[in-house]
Amino acid sequence: MLIMLALAGCIPRGQQSREPPRAQTPARAERNSAQILQCHLDLAREEIGFRALPDQRFSGGCSALGAVQLTEIGTPVTNLRAMTCPLARQFARWNREAVQPAADQWLGRRVVRIETFGTYGCRTVNSQPGARLSEHAYANAVDVSGFVLEGGRRITVQDGWNGDDDRVRRFLRAVHRAGCRRFAVGLSPDSDAYHYNHMHFDMGRGPYCR
Ligand SMILES: [Zn+2]
Repeated sequence: MLIMLALAGCIPRGQQSREPPRAQTPARAERNSAQILQCHLDLAREEIGFRALPDQRFSGGCSALGAVQLTEIGTPVTNLRAMTCPLARQFARWNREAVQPAADQWLGRRVVRIETFGTYGCRTVNSQPGARLSEHAYANAVDVSGFVLEGGRRITVQDGWNGDDDRVRRFLRAVHRAGCRRFAVGLSPDSDAYHYNHMHFDMGRGPYCR
């Protein structure tokens, strides 16, 4: 049961249902490839290691289009696989501009590993039957579950968000708030019961932060 909840997708509220990808008009495809190229250039300029992945379409309307595999963002990250390029760009920026400074400020240590439950997953919102597809179904979302500090201390969203350590609570809230400024949607354990153990960030329709 816990594992099922842990793997559940997330509800970015206020979003409309979106249709599965379909054949694009040439103008649209050109615009999209220009945006992807710009995103690749941004990653290169910011010295973020990545590999472009071939477009993949799966049954059920799921897809990973214009996705990249991050290989080096300055901090090792677990379970990070296909991500849309804009999601990857914001994730790397979030790590550099928000996670490390917040860890220095509140915990006095560097984060040496970010733990996630992953990115792509062909599933509906919160894995509920009949619900629309989650942003995870488009490789456009990431679920962050914890952080390991220099020295080995491990901070988890599940234990830390409402835990006893005030500095850990502040650190987690700081990185969540900073995520809301960089991603379209940011959800925390304060959003609903499905997110008791992770922060969900996606580049779908926003802004929404809770
Ligand atoms: Zn999620």
